[in-house]
Amino acid sequence: MTRANSQDRDLRERAAAVIPGGMYGHQSTRLLPDDYPQFFSRAKGARLWDADGNEMLDFMCAYGPNLMGYADDAIDAAYIDRMRQGDTMTGPTGLIVELAERFTAMVTHADWAIFCKNGGDATQMALMIARAHTGRKTVILAKGAYHGAAPWCATRPVGVIREDKAHQLFCDYNDIASLEAAVAAAGDDLAAIFAAPMKHDAFTDQALPDPAYARRARELCDAAGALLLVDDVRAGLRIARDCSWSVVGVQPDLSSWGKCFANGHPISALLGSNTAKRAAAQIFTTGSFWYQAAPMAAALTTLDRVRNTDYLEHIEGLGTRLRDGLAERAAASGLGLRQTGPVTMPLFLFDDDPDLRKGFFWSSEMLRRGVYVHPWHNMFLCAAMTTADIDQALDAAEASLKALKGQVGSLGPVAKMSFLTA
Ligand SMILES: *Cc1c(COP(=O)(O)O)cnc(C)c1O
Repeated sequence: MTRANSQDRDLRERAAAVIPGGMYGHQSTRLLPDDYPQFFSRAKGARLWDADGNEMLDFMCAYGPNLMGYADDAIDAAYIDRMRQGDTMTGPTGLIVELAERFTAMVTHADWAIFCKNGGDATQMALMIARAHTGRKTVILAKGAYHGAAPWCATRPVGVIREDKAHQLFCDYNDIASLEAAVAAAGDDLAAIFAAPMKHDAFTDQALPDPAYARRARELCDAAGALLLVDDVRAGLRIARDCSWSVVGVQPDLSSWGKCFANGHPISALLGSNTAKRAAAQIFTTGSFWYQAAPMAAALTTLDRVRNTDYLEHIEGLGTRLRDGLAERAAASGLGLRQTGPVTMPLFLFDDDPDLRKGFFWSSEMLRRGVYVHPWHNMFLCAAMTTADIDQALDAAEASLKALKGQVGSLGPVAKMSFLTA
């Protein structure tokens, strides 16, 4: 079983000449197994085709944006319909008001919405609003939590100066003592606590929020007059039809949304409570494409689906089937496999696998069997998946575990991952 890859190889060669690094950011396959495709040609429902026409059941869902299924007919029809009537214009359409009404009706803490393009736009606005609201500088973040690629939150130091990250303090996720210590260190300068809805950092086991940690973050913000942000750009709508910390009973002042709420069409949002409304109206924030009407039409159709269907219970059921079935097969194989995070956003890591040689081998075996999994980033389920898809993934997993079991003693180090053990 060899996968065709001549188109992909050709595109990579050409990309190396005209695209820095051949590809950038999370869409680069630089840190994926060598046989993973870099280029894709088509997607429908839960499936994806690479540039060479190989079909895959896709557990990455575009790193989140695919919530209801790729190329969803009704959502895309709403988009195309609106696009044909005018998309980017001299001002917004009434859809922006309708979408703000819909979103604030859905999310308990929210009284207002600002729409933008990327999750990073929303988290950066949250930072500005917190500083405008408090007149203070310091923000507390959880170590390793992702909030975007702007200099203030970039995860790689190249091209970033210390001043870009000034006035930031760090705590450990779910560690109340470290959060309290950071608040104490902020003294009378605390503007905000930025919270990840769960620990969903790369290369490491995920963790659900400890309700006591979430409650303490709320109390500390209230005591200091600081704002609490929950960054729901990744987890939003896969944990709740509300802000993800609603499941632990905590309401933030601000929440950032993106990736999936227009099912892949380009729009993100910052939502806020009335506490932060004055500051939100005072900062200068905008973008050339922030008022695009077509993604708003797609968002309204997606949010209809969120409100009116059991999409969430459906992906929770499928996620549980996947988790239980995989646990059973991993146990039978004798290979230790850790499955962490909510079942709708799973991450798989093998025990005793510091440089991911087992994870890389197993993921490549899955790909050979037509299932795209990620060896070190959390994955995503989408509502277009079916029980049969999960069973296909479980069959592939069983065969791939068997292949790994046979090879586990002779696997060499994965050179590109050596930074993990350096
Ligand atoms: C992806 C992500 C962002 C940034 O969103 P972009 O659309 O890539 O700018 C921010 N926060 C979290 C938690 C994310 O997963």
